[in-house]
Amino acid sequence: MSGSLIVVGLGPGTAQWITPAAQAALDAATDIVGYGPYVDRVPERVGLTKHASDNRVEVERAAHALHLAADGRRVAVVSGGDPGVFAMAAAVFEALEAGPREWLNIPITVEPGITAMLAAAARAGAPLGGDFCAISLSDNLKPWEVVTTRLRAVLAADLVICLYNPISKARPWQLGKALELAAEQRSPETPVLFARAVGRPDESLRILTLAEAVTAASTADMATLVMIGASSTRLIAREGRPPYVYTPRSVAKMPCATSQGRT
Ligand code: SAH
Repeated sequence: MSGSLIVVGLGPGTAQWITPAAQAALDAATDIVGYGPYVDRVPERVGLTKHASDNRVEVERAAHALHLAADGRRVAVVSGGDPGVFAMAAAVFEALEAGPREWLNIPITVEPGITAMLAAAARAGAPLGGDFCAISLSDNLKPWEVVTTRLRAVLAADLVICLYNPISKARPWQLGKALELAAEQRSPETPVLFARAVGRPDESLRILTLAEAVTAASTADMATLVMIGASSTRLIAREGRPPYVYTPRSVAKMPCATSQGRT
């Protein structure tokens, strides 16, 4: 048997958000490699070997998967959401780049999944209807100065900003700092979403103002996607129900007079 490696996105939580193509890749695999909770989401079956690992060892996990594929196994590396968004697909290519040249003969494919920001946006309405960006607040892999430089740039550009990895026990203050930076450039009334565990039984969606979000930063956790609205992001209120949140597709003029080079 000639081996292969496929990096599979499991979506944010519910099995209904696993694509048929991702499911087919899981069904065809001989080995599942990934972070424990994601590996647990793949049911046991005869002929399937599961390799669960800790969250912090992505590149070693990817190298292990490449070794298995080089030995002739059909390996599925699983990620939550989309595997290309702050996840295992990049770790696989990092391991490939650093590994032996023979690994270049392994067919590697990536099977997309629904990433957290798209699931969160769908729950809220259409907050990503205009231009937007995604930033990981984790400073494990990049200096915090890089995060703040990028945040300032996208705040000035009036993009909707999706924050992944907003907070953890080891990184308790970064989200508060990011929201304070946002409050320096955006109105206190700007809608901010805290979308937690979307697609899982304990899902919650909180729609806050930016001013409220600054004080509520510590109530977010690792399972939360934080979305900061742009100047045009707004609510449509409903009687007895949460409002819809949306960002119009059209932009009349640049609202940030602070952009460099403006006269
Ligand atoms: N590859 C994943 C992201 C991995 S980074 C994806 O495409 O979604 C992990 C971060 O994703 C978490 O800290 C959180 O910010 C976000 N996230 C993942 N699953 C989520 C979910 N079900 N609900 C809300 N946010 C989620």
